[in-house]
Amino acid sequence: MTDFAETKTLFHLPEGVVYLDGNSLGPLPKSAPARIAQAVEAEWGAELIGGWTKCGWMDQPTALGDRIGRLIGAAPGTTTIGDTLSIKVFQALSAALALRPDRRIVLTDMGNFPTDLYMAQSLLDALGQGHVLKAVAPEEVADHLGEDVAVLMLTQVDYRTGRRHDMAGLTAAAHEKGALTVWDLAHSAGAIAVNMIGTGADFCVGCTYKFLNAGPGAPAFISVAPQHAEKTEPILAGWLGHAAPFAFEPAYRAGLGIERFRVGTPPVLQMAALDAALDIWDGVDLAALEEKAATLGNLFINEVEARCPDLTLASPRDARHRGSQVSFRHPDGYPIMQALIADGVVGDFRAPDILRFGITPLYLDEADIRTATERIETVMKTRAYDLPEHREVKAVT
Ligand SMILES: *Cc1c(COP(=O)(O)O)cnc(C)c1O
Repeated sequence: MTDFAETKTLFHLPEGVVYLDGNSLGPLPKSAPARIAQAVEAEWGAELIGGWTKCGWMDQPTALGDRIGRLIGAAPGTTTIGDTLSIKVFQALSAALALRPDRRIVLTDMGNFPTDLYMAQSLLDALGQGHVLKAVAPEEVADHLGEDVAVLMLTQVDYRTGRRHDMAGLTAAAHEKGALTVWDLAHSAGAIAVNMIGTGADFCVGCTYKFLNAGPGAPAFISVAPQHAEKTEPILAGWLGHAAPFAFEPAYRAGLGIERFRVGTPPVLQMAALDAALDIWDGVDLAALEEKAATLGNLFINEVEARCPDLTLASPRDARHRGSQVSFRHPDGYPIMQALIADGVVGDFRAPDILRFGITPLYLDEADIRTATERIETVMKTRAYDLPEHREVKAVT
């Protein structure tokens, strides 16, 4: 069993703050500054270019990928990291489409994160083969799975509402119709127990700066089921996905397995932060994490509903149908969140009216949830959000 009181001590959390935004940017692991400093001074500083081999920099994307792979139930050797999630969505969808050349529909839901929709549409436009991106209501995805669907591309947990798709059921339904699946696990990895192998998912992608706590700008990951990895040519044929990058051949030859999903030079300093973050994750039991998140999330919902009748629950009440966040709606959602942040309860706001709170058992306990809900009650009762300073809209919400 994971000792969550122990994991909480491993994070730097500013005094007086209840941090409910780890679903957007995870906090700093206490070991990260020293690990990053080591990569800067002892590796880059002392080894210079030798670091690529002596310090293992070149192999890190697959080594770190495997540690992430455990968290999402991916097979060893099928995960790599690099780039941003937008790029990994593009790569995964392109590979999946190439495996279903006779079909033209990419099915997704209207709640999907905008960058996933933009990247998909731009890929379909670039392909110029008449593919159509079809976005339907999240509850109706299964009804639209026909024989014409090439790829079912979904974000498992909705970034606004926290609603969770049934990954196993929808993957099975897609396969039954001959479609492949691309699952975006941005709000699943490190939030709930995911079983890529068990669900039979074809492609999984996600980011490491949210629940995985690897810091702003940390690289994304991609996992590809082994039967697919070598079946298509990469759409982004970067030199580090080449079979022999240092042969500097004029023509591209795709690397083995997951290696071909690498593109360019890996972000070494950012990988040092990811390494430190994964040291914590290596010891975590995901089933226990999911159970604790459900308990904390249920407590949060009960307390907010009892204290703040004006806030309307936007997330599923049943924890089995939620990820690890709880959202409420209010027409004044933006200024309310600003007032909460000023009061040390850090969540975020998503247009048009969603107050979003990340529930992260690695560093949040029941006392934090109670403190947060008491402060939310005070902000609502005193209407602290009516102050003009809370109504100024910032660039990042
Ligand atoms: C956070 C998030 C992204 C972010 O993509 P980046 O390229 O890393 O900025 C993409 N998709 C989903 C579903 C997300 O939640």
